[in-house]
Amino acid sequence: MKKDTMKPLKIPRIKDGTVIDHIPSGNAVKVLWILEIPKQNTSTVSVAMNVHGKQGRKDIVKVENRELARNEVDKIALIAPKATINIIRDYKVAEKHKVQLPDEIIGIARCQNPTCISNAGEPVHSRFIVLDKELPRIKCYYCRREPENIADRII
Ligand code: ZN
Repeated sequence: MKKDTMKPLKIPRIKDGTVIDHIPSGNAVKVLWILEIPKQNTSTVSVAMNVHGKQGRKDIVKVENRELARNEVDKIALIAPKATINIIRDYKVAEKHKVQLPDEIIGIARCQNPTCISNAGEPVHSRFIVLDKELPRIKCYYCRREPENIADRII
């Protein structure tokens, strides 16, 4: 029997920036990828994985000196639908909200159907209808196909 020796991990407080909490355990790397860290980021980023939370294990990402754009939050919602976004200003939580997918997402994920019009090189943005915001489940507006693995479809 393997004994669980992981303890809750404190990661440094930040002065200004964003804390993304309640990321499903193991998905912090996908969040970093969505935020194009380290490519688009020169500030300090802290990542805690497998942190014990009230609802089991979770990951946390803290990004200093950055607030997220709407499309970044929507992408995070696709892989971490229960995530919370905390905006930190001067060490205080200035804003806290749960990510929530809109009813439609445009231009943030790619349809997996190679013959879909959104993949045909036409000036057509990918467009998905959000069927379930919690799971989540999405369906292509054009060809009605549901991607099997949403994380792999994020642009
Ligand atoms: Zn499609």
